[in-house]
Amino acid sequence: MNKDHFLEVRGLKKYFDAGRPGLFTRSRDIRHVHAVDGVDFDLHHSEVIALVGESGCGKSTLALLLMGLEDPTAGTVTFDGRDITHLNDRQRKDVRRKIQMVFQDPYESLNPTQTIEEIISEPLHVHGIAKEKGERDQRVRKALEDSGLKPAEVYLGRYPHELSGGQRQRVVIAAALVLEPEIILADEPVSMLDVSIRAEIINLLAELRITRQIAVIFITHDLGSVGFFADRVAVMYLGRIVEIGTMLEVLEKPGHPYTKALLSVIPVPNPRLRRERTILQGETPNPIDVPTGCRFHPRCPVAIEACKASDPPFVPLSKTHQAACLLLIK
Ligand code: SF4
Repeated sequence: MNKDHFLEVRGLKKYFDAGRPGLFTRSRDIRHVHAVDGVDFDLHHSEVIALVGESGCGKSTLALLLMGLEDPTAGTVTFDGRDITHLNDRQRKDVRRKIQMVFQDPYESLNPTQTIEEIISEPLHVHGIAKEKGERDQRVRKALEDSGLKPAEVYLGRYPHELSGGQRQRVVIAAALVLEPEIILADEPVSMLDVSIRAEIINLLAELRITRQIAVIFITHDLGSVGFFADRVAVMYLGRIVEIGTMLEVLEKPGHPYTKALLSVIPVPNPRLRRERTILQGETPNPIDVPTGCRFHPRCPVAIEACKASDPPFVPLSKTHQAACLLLIK
């Protein structure tokens, strides 16, 4: 393991059983949903990676695999030099303390019958941390204030329904911070919030990676929401990462046609910087019947005949400045 990578993901796959095909087909084989289909990437200390793709591309399943909330079909996840792919419950609990998840919906994530103080101190009870009241109170207050809800006393006795959507998402983040995690997996953390609040939550995550040295995997369907907050961007399509590179590289020199299409529809205020819009034809294919060859070929605006048969090797953009598909075509 490279010592700069404290999370390494190799060949990760998750297939879900989709049952047998219908009565009128010949095959009796059980079919599978290829939700995650061979993902490789590394995460560095205090790094922010934006994981971008349309809904259904497998990014949320990938997050669940990293959290250990799903068992992978194949592949490995190594965290701080330790293989965490298959752990028992006790070992898993220990890892979960260090890798925390922030879910999309701050309304669903919080128990409406608990006060903010109870919500934030609950993870400490679950993990048997800070059993002494003074230490527990201190950690809860710090987590709340580091999440931008200060002074903490104003919020501790309130209930979720007394807070705005943005404040609730800050409480969700505080409940993750109280365990002092090393990685936050933020799954569409701003998509349910008003546009005016989104930048505040993204700025908060950007601040936490500096003040608390936390690495962030920011999962989103909207490449435009990432801005310059992320160090690197990984673009996912139908269960695979098709392109990964630094934010600047991906914005300025996208290699993969799918990335180019995503970028082309982001609104740009300066008309001189606008790209020609590429509207992808058709729907994302069914992950039960993944297309042969390059899985993007049915929708790719520059596909050639060879793309139906050959799947281009994955080459990180940062190393080659070439999309894998261009190598295939050459
Ligand atoms: Fe498009 Fe072919 Fe490249 Fe796939 S391999 S992205 S179909 S050009």
